[in-house]
Amino acid sequence: MRVDCYTIIIAVDCDYLRRPIGKFMIETDIIIVGAGPCGLFTVFEAGLLKLRCHLIDALPQAGGQLTEIYPKKPIYDIPGFPEVLAGDLIEHLMKQAAPFKPGFTLGERCESFEKADDGSFIVRTSRGTLHKAPVVAIAGGLGCFEPRKPPITNISDFEDKGIEYIVRDPNFYQGKRVIISGGGDSALDWAIFLANGVAKEVTLIHRSKSFRGHPDSVQKVLDMAASGKIKLLTDAEVVGVQGSGHLETIEVDSQSEGKMTLTTDHWLPLFGLSPKLGPLADWGLNIDKNSIEVNTFDYSTNVPGIYAIGDINTYPGKLKLILCGFHEATLMVQSAFKRIYPDKNYVLKYTTVNGVTGF
Ligand SMILES: Cc1cc2nc3c(=O)[nH]c(=O)nc-3n(C[C@H](O)[C@H](O)[C@H](O)COP(=O)(O)OP(=O)(O)OC[C@H]3O[C@@H](n4cnc5c(N)ncnc54)[C@H](O)[C@@H]3O)c2cc1C
Repeated sequence: MRVDCYTIIIAVDCDYLRRPIGKFMIETDIIIVGAGPCGLFTVFEAGLLKLRCHLIDALPQAGGQLTEIYPKKPIYDIPGFPEVLAGDLIEHLMKQAAPFKPGFTLGERCESFEKADDGSFIVRTSRGTLHKAPVVAIAGGLGCFEPRKPPITNISDFEDKGIEYIVRDPNFYQGKRVIISGGGDSALDWAIFLANGVAKEVTLIHRSKSFRGHPDSVQKVLDMAASGKIKLLTDAEVVGVQGSGHLETIEVDSQSEGKMTLTTDHWLPLFGLSPKLGPLADWGLNIDKNSIEVNTFDYSTNVPGIYAIGDINTYPGKLKLILCGFHEATLMVQSAFKRIYPDKNYVLKYTTVNGVTGF
């Protein structure tokens, strides 16, 4: 299972840092768009300069590609770690950022921004949450991961009304009947998790008999199906959805049993996510082939006060590597500091001299 619970705890702990100035306004020094490795490391580097950060991510957990695509894959090119699992690196980054008490808005996509009267930015998310800061750092990686949706004509009628493509909070499914579709890690992991005392009933539907997920998870699902904890339908797929206002039934086409109708409270089509630059493409930033052009002096974009670091930026010689994003974050916050405190003089001190003093 991913680091969802860990990040949710951090988000709750840090609620007090969300200093409300309007109905839903969260105020901070740097709004970070994207809670991947580069966004998380920005919190640490900014914290050393006494700058507070708030991260926004469209995914329900922190970690970006590392958590979403390859949490169990070893990485060999992080300085000081001869080998580290991607998921473990994210846990280390979360711990490293923790003293600086970052705020998180997870499961919400940054849609647009406007300039406030005082020159700072107000960033609005897909759920209408507003964030205000003098600096925005875009660490959006490959962009937003958009769910791959099954080709069912009226599916949008039930989105967030019984059909969800991402599990934002597993407790939402407490005592509910849940049908999950998919054969990858996400579908298998959530089927196992929800069937272990969360949901009232879990059915897993997959169009083949072989699964793409981790062999351990496949075995666990098969064992839970054998013991009756999960209902497993293979060689079957969902072809229709019905309900009045909220999802009530789904129609399944099974190779062995033909068409059948199943009653359910929720259907989770977990067919993976594909990245798209999304709304950031309309922010008036100079874009070159889906990447944001930056000045390598400080990774600033053409919009003063908006920076771009990590996989999302481009410049001559750019390498899409985690360690390059860490370097970019480190230089970027120096420039952000000068923008926020133009009259203060910052003198670089090693952390070995000062230690790490959080907020
Ligand atoms: C299979 C694989 C193996 C890899 N192996 C290595 C390796 O060994 N070493 C290495 O250095 N690199 C490796 N990489 C590359 C590495 O994963 C990336 O360089 C790194 O993830 C970039 O980090 P990031 O923080 O810039 O972006 P990401 O990790 O992509 O995170 C960006 C986050 O921004 C969010 N986001 C985007 N747009 C919005 C928006 N509008 N609103 C809200 N949130 C948004 C996304 O949801 C995402 O969570 C690998 C990549 C893959 C796919």
